[in-house]
Amino acid sequence: MESQALFLRTLRGLDGKPYSGYKALKGEYHLGFYNLSVDYVQSDPFAPPTRIRAKLPMDLLQLSANDIRSLEQKIATEDFLTRRLASALSELGAKRRGSGRSGSILIAVPGQVMLGRSSVLITTETIEVRMSIGLPANGRRIRAKDAEAMLLEDLPYLFDAAFSRSTFPFGELFSQIQLYIDQCALRKSLTDSGLIAFIGEGAILARRSGVSDLPMDEAMAVPFKSPDSLRVVKKLPSGRTISGMGIKQGVTVIVGGGFHGKSTLLHAIEQGVYNHVEGDGREWCITDSQAVKIRAEDGRRVSRVDISGFINHLPRGRSTTTFSTQDASGSTSQSAAIVEAIELGATALLMDEDTCATNFMIRDARMQKLIVKEKEPITPFVDRVRELYDQLGVSTILVIGGSGDYLDVANVVIDMDEYRPYDFTEKAKIVSKQLPVSRQKEVTVPLNPIRARHPHPQNLRNQLERIEAKAFPTLHVGDEFVDLSALEQMVDEGQLRAIAALMRYALNTYVDGSVPLRTVVEKSIQQVLNHGFESISSNEGCSGFYTLPRSLELGMAWNRVRSLTIR
Ligand code: ADP
Ligand code: MG
Repeated sequence: MESQALFLRTLRGLDGKPYSGYKALKGEYHLGFYNLSVDYVQSDPFAPPTRIRAKLPMDLLQLSANDIRSLEQKIATEDFLTRRLASALSELGAKRRGSGRSGSILIAVPGQVMLGRSSVLITTETIEVRMSIGLPANGRRIRAKDAEAMLLEDLPYLFDAAFSRSTFPFGELFSQIQLYIDQCALRKSLTDSGLIAFIGEGAILARRSGVSDLPMDEAMAVPFKSPDSLRVVKKLPSGRTISGMGIKQGVTVIVGGGFHGKSTLLHAIEQGVYNHVEGDGREWCITDSQAVKIRAEDGRRVSRVDISGFINHLPRGRSTTTFSTQDASGSTSQSAAIVEAIELGATALLMDEDTCATNFMIRDARMQKLIVKEKEPITPFVDRVRELYDQLGVSTILVIGGSGDYLDVANVVIDMDEYRPYDFTEKAKIVSKQLPVSRQKEVTVPLNPIRARHPHPQNLRNQLERIEAKAFPTLHVGDEFVDLSALEQMVDEGQLRAIAALMRYALNTYVDGSVPLRTVVEKSIQQVLNHGFESISSNEGCSGFYTLPRSLELGMAWNRVRSLTIR
């Protein structure tokens, strides 16, 4: 650790010199109020910014070891401190200090979800902040005075504004921790109660717009109200009791007229795998942590997936037990997505008719008559959905307004009417009896057991430097653009960055063609939980811009890399 005097001497000596001179600052310094690590120095003012870490003494806040003992407390606290920093920074305002990114201070800005983040790391002694800064320049010349002001005035000011004990909102922190713990406990308790999802009474599900994750204005939004027959009550660790609609394991069908809130409800269920912040409206929308949104995604690559339970005897005798393609159709992509999700450990499938392949979902009596089974490769999902639950324990929640065939296979039918759910299970049974479906069930053989597949590093080992998160939701792998827009439960850019870093890490460590994909992704996530993001970072220090994905999204990303070899 170098002294402030040395730091200043070095920096002042660089004034007016070519920008690359900043490289001399790489190192660790004791700057009075905090310790600064300069881990990576940008090569010019327009290049990706300089990566630093600032270590502040925990005395600043005096959080007690008790407050941050468990992993859950730690995640909630680090998330909260990141939010404090982001709002302090937005108040400080952007100070530009010269050309390019000169003078910019960049920290992660969390959205509506509380997640494990690399932006702040707390230990019993320190608060470590990971951020990026644009070192100031005039053209391509160093502006040492401005750099000094940034590091010795702006940053301390920012840290003081965010973390100073005298102004810190301890009440809000403790309520965020409590909320996070309650949400985790509620999620864990779902399984014991035979539930897949829970939607709290009064929840605001609707969002402000199609491109915003913020809640719709209270004046416009219809708060959620559970039907009496589906209401469950939960007692949480904080002592709080919460009631809401429970969606049971099995097959649940959400019906209702167009524009009555079906997709909005399903979206809230999808997002319920995460914990939302106070004020989001979905604080008590809690879903089984392994629930996966499934959709059709034509054009995607599929590698060696057994989709024979859904698609069989393709034209020209093409195999579907180890199905591979660089250009899947709607139905083959959706079948593959289901099988891959179960392989990765999914406990529930979430589907919305808006994004499903119709021919995969249903095949009615008339079509069965017109196109004989031998000429139709697809076994519609309606004929497998019960089997998935009965044989594999995988539940399905399905939005479907257009086909009554699903009424026969549903355990529960929820009708959305003017944004209010009604329990239509009994009504649906009556309708099913009155109007029996004349179609034939098309299943002749049971689903094959789900097979583990093994990623092999051969094409990717020399691309490690070139696995990068670019524009969300696209991943770069070498020259390839991997479109991850079908990963609808990937919530932010930080997860995409973490996915890129975790892929590099796994390729470097344990992907060797013998480890199943599910193990690869679960081990990767466990690595971060046990040893932090710094342990997967291939560079010195740690970027402050990672958020933790689920192992499921990580696996879904692996599955979409075209150059990956699967055994
Ligand atoms: P569906 O899938 O049934 O066609 P959507 O879920 O897409 O309907 O919702 C239709 C519109 O209604 C959307 O613009 C959505 O924002 C709005 N909306 C959904 N739920 C609510 C609610 N609870 N209160 C107010 N508006 C809502
Ligand atoms: Mg819809």
